[in-house]
Amino acid sequence: MRQSSGGSRRSPPCRCRPKRQKRSFEALAAPLYRRNGRTGSGWTLVALDQAPRWSTSHIRKFETIQDIFGVIKGSEEPDRYVILGNHRDAWTYGAVDPNSGTASLLDIVRRLGIMLQSGWRPRRSIILCSWDAEEFGMIGSTEWVEENLADLHSKAVAYLNVDCAVQGVGFFAGSTPQLDKLLVDVTRQVKDPDVTGKMVHDTWSEMNGGISIERLARTDSDFAPFLHHAGIPSVDLYYGNEFPGYHTALDSYSWMEKHGDPLFLRHLAITEIWGLLALHLADDPVLPFDYQVYAKQLQEHTNALSALMSNSQAVNLMNGFINDLSGAAMEVLKEGKKLQQLDLYDENARMRRRLLNDRLLLAERSFLQAEGLQGRGWFKHLLYSPPEDYESKLSFFPGIADAISRSGNLSAEEREASIQHEVWKVSRAIQRAASVLRGEFSRQNDPSNFSSLVTP
Ligand SMILES: [Zn+2]
Repeated sequence: MRQSSGGSRRSPPCRCRPKRQKRSFEALAAPLYRRNGRTGSGWTLVALDQAPRWSTSHIRKFETIQDIFGVIKGSEEPDRYVILGNHRDAWTYGAVDPNSGTASLLDIVRRLGIMLQSGWRPRRSIILCSWDAEEFGMIGSTEWVEENLADLHSKAVAYLNVDCAVQGVGFFAGSTPQLDKLLVDVTRQVKDPDVTGKMVHDTWSEMNGGISIERLARTDSDFAPFLHHAGIPSVDLYYGNEFPGYHTALDSYSWMEKHGDPLFLRHLAITEIWGLLALHLADDPVLPFDYQVYAKQLQEHTNALSALMSNSQAVNLMNGFINDLSGAAMEVLKEGKKLQQLDLYDENARMRRRLLNDRLLLAERSFLQAEGLQGRGWFKHLLYSPPEDYESKLSFFPGIADAISRSGNLSAEEREASIQHEVWKVSRAIQRAASVLRGEFSRQNDPSNFSSLVTP
């Protein structure tokens, strides 16, 4: 569904929809999820308009929604947040969507409780979130992110989302690329729920002929406001991607017990992967972010874009900035390794780790553009926001994707100029990330500076 005015956000249903139904479902359900475009605290009017085959009455009413939070204060860096979230509202019985995820979240809470009782405290704060009103367009999570944006910008380490933990067979994961390595490492430590003697990593890799991690340009679960609006590194985890009972009365405990996860071992696997991710992010002295992987992924995106654009000169110029990011990422990795060897309790070492961690934490924010995407200002992430056109061949660089899809009636020259303008924005964002990783201001006089080669 589309929003025609700038500044508003799309409001799709949650992620658990089988992927092949995406377009037809959204076309059918679009009027059901329209919000009045209101943001901030207080009342929000949600319109459930009349929709063929979905509703026969027009309902407009105020409802109170309740997000629920559990906070474990960090012992050393209480002002750094590792955030885990799952929604709690369901269309019907919701055994899959969202209660499979809620069961996992509650099991993590139980396990963390045991650890706390044994005397453990996380280094950084862990925030556990149960979102309300996700099915109406991620209202609970979005309102919270918008209200706490300044704090989240400066203090959030990562957001780890699980919506439908289990809706079938096979492990699936999405993340921002700096978290890939941690995600893969963690799946090596968790037993596969379906094949005795194997780890999740083994079957995940065999299923796809290699590890496959999705990029989170979708807008159908609560990671959307965290990543697309706030630029917080994010993860999304689930088992199975084809659930025939999606948003119907078949989404029941009986289906889960008979078909979805008879031994509830897939639930357990998600719980363990989710929990281990959180523990590493909350406790590792140096944040386990790998920006070299990010640079590699950006290079792949740029190669794909270059092929699509027949080797446009503007696109090719992005390579230099990606190389610069890769170089900065390598320096940061080396620095991190050195700092890991220093005494854990030495004050000076602590401060040096904190300075490095701040650069790692803030680098993702460099990919945000303050005014947002053209005509869709709420989406601020220049690498991973949804493209305006669902038919777009690009699931990354949304501003460039929009410029391509809007260029149908333009002359060749105008088309190239509008795309070039968006390429310039992405390039500057990559340049900003490299500067943030190095802890430097941007180098405007550098002869390789993109702005000197391409006029925006
Ligand atoms: Zn859901």
